[in-house]
Amino acid sequence: MHVEHCLNPECKRKFEVIEFGHDRPAQPEPRQLVCPYCGHTVYRKTRGAFIVHQLDRMMLRND
Ligand SMILES: [Zn+2]
Repeated sequence: MHVEHCLNPECKRKFEVIEFGHDRPAQPEPRQLVCPYCGHTVYRKTRGAFIVHQLDRMMLRND
């Protein structure tokens, strides 16, 4: 698990990324990594897949 910033310049919010299944013996393939706030999508190679979680889900929304 690690924390990333959204690459959308109008979002830039932080979210948690969990990569799973990446230790299986498969060819790395591009998988979707979707920002949980704005839906901005990037593709990154992995043998598994990604799960993302909002980091500030316990806070009040101010939008
Ligand atoms: Zn975003």
